Amino acid sequence: MLKMHNIRKSYRTDTIETHALRDFSLQVNEGEFVSVTGPSGSGKTTFLNIAGLLETPTGGQYLLDGEDVSSLNDRDRSRLRNEKIGFIFQGFNLIPDLNLFDNIDVPLRYRGFNAKERKKRIEKVLEQVGLSARAKHLPAQLSGGQQQRVAIARALAGEPRFLLADEPTGNLDSLMARQVMELLEFINEWGTTIVMVTHDPDLARRAHRNIQIVDGQVSDLQHGTVGAARE
Ligand code: ADP
Ligand code: ADP
Repeated sequence: MLKMHNIRKSYRTDTIETHALRDFSLQVNEGEFVSVTGPSGSGKTTFLNIAGLLETPTGGQYLLDGEDVSSLNDRDRSRLRNEKIGFIFQGFNLIPDLNLFDNIDVPLRYRGFNAKERKKRIEKVLEQVGLSARAKHLPAQLSGGQQQRVAIARALAGEPRFLLADEPTGNLDSLMARQVMELLEFINEWGTTIVMVTHDPDLARRAHRNIQIVDGQVSDLQHGTVGAARE
């Protein structure tokens, strides 16, 4: 479970202070698929970066699976991030001169898994995203939708409890976007909690629950809407 209470995040550049999040409170339960929408600059990426332990809040409390992570040191924060969180982004962030297998291998090596365990995980996730036959291909040999599926496979290989997605379909045409969304729905059904920022209202509606962020806060209209289940 992910629980934020009165989170604040301010950025100061020269004389200007931006309040990216203020009194931001939100709970995401185990197994949920939550979509996050809101105008550009409203704080969606900042929320996701704090949720994913990439950034620390300026104030407030953040509990991740019951552990107060608001003020962890860098080392504990990366440990927890590697253990629990997977990220996908709008740009797929694949390494162009590594084939799919090796792209997925990078974070696994970093985490120190042995070769046998890495191979087992990579083969499993390539199958989950339907790209087993492409393991030796380079990213440029794939469509955008397939590249995003590789990025999803790379995130899944870490066996995260939470998958955080920042506009994962933003660079895809609508057919590929729907395919990526379907894959995310499978992943959610397999047990991973998903939080997805999107500008696409159709995709946002397909989540269990939609949260709208306006001016750094969860929009009042959204409070208490433990929304309609998919089906
Ligand atoms: P969104 O993802 O909804 O477009 P962001 O979370 O990226 O919004 O940004 C929220 C606000 O915080 C914006 O005004 C943005 O310019 C500002 N902001 C975000 N990151 C930084 C940063 N690293 N330094 C300064 N300002 C930032
Ligand atoms: P989004 O597609 O989510 O709206 P943005 O273009 O707002 O993304 O931001 C992309 C990245 O740049 C984010 O990680 C955000 O924190 C950072 N960022 C946004 N605004 C600023 C800013 N004014 N100064 C520095 N970094 C920023």
